[in-house]
Amino acid sequence: MTVEYHVKDISIHRIVEQELGTRDAFQFLKDLTPELLEENRSWLEPLALLKNTNNFSFCFQSYVIKTPHHNILVDSCIGNDKPRPNRGSWHLKNDNYFMSALAKANLKVTDIDYVMCTHLHTDHVGWNTKLENGQWVPTFPNARYLMSSTELNYWIDLHRKTPIDAINDSVLPILESKQAELIKSDHVLSEYIRLMPTPGHTIDHFSVLLGKNEDLAYFTGDLIHTPLQAKYPNLCATVDFDYEQATQTRFSFLERVCEQKALCCTAHFPGTSVGKFTKWKDTYRFNAE
Ligand SMILES: [Zn+2]
Repeated sequence: MTVEYHVKDISIHRIVEQELGTRDAFQFLKDLTPELLEENRSWLEPLALLKNTNNFSFCFQSYVIKTPHHNILVDSCIGNDKPRPNRGSWHLKNDNYFMSALAKANLKVTDIDYVMCTHLHTDHVGWNTKLENGQWVPTFPNARYLMSSTELNYWIDLHRKTPIDAINDSVLPILESKQAELIKSDHVLSEYIRLMPTPGHTIDHFSVLLGKNEDLAYFTGDLIHTPLQAKYPNLCATVDFDYEQATQTRFSFLERVCEQKALCCTAHFPGTSVGKFTKWKDTYRFNAE
């Protein structure tokens, strides 16, 4: 498994926490029909679709970008010790995968300067915090955590009505420690790094864009979950917040990165999650690198 990529003087490191998560394809994609899945089975198997099953395979990971000035963590994946009763393989888990991947990238938790929260779903904020003496404390003591203020307000409102574990244990402690930086989803961090609004999966989801005066690599967050959605960008995840907007975001993103031939670092594509999208007749295809 390739875990390190280089774009000019910047390196990108995959921090893989779980490699083989599975979800029922029909539960996962809203308008997927058995006919459409069969039609595509031959190229989806065995990586994106487990052989002879209807189960998509997903990778769960973060990325670290090392620029000449900063170490930036894009999303913080699942986390340890988190109560996630609806997800067996995440619930109160305690393993070393995330931390050893960070160590393999030659990084300590104190080396992370920024944590980018593309959105505030459970599997993207987990390592924001760790359990220490019964308290949730920031995992990265020197980091600023960037979150969209619109996204944050939406989740805080929801959390007040019905408590959400991930907001409670992985987001609120960051606000309390005053390490959160509330930004707009088109924020410019530095000459190398900026954000691009990619709403639809959540209310103010953003992607992270890397490149000095050019668009060289994208960190997609959850604007796309499986290679099947490149061929059919109108297929939405059932959990998408706004189906129409999510579809529009996927179409315009795919068109843009095809034209730019930009490297795309996806959050959940199985196997090699990093690659480039190219045109495929009148739609798109993912080519792993
Ligand atoms: Zn996700």
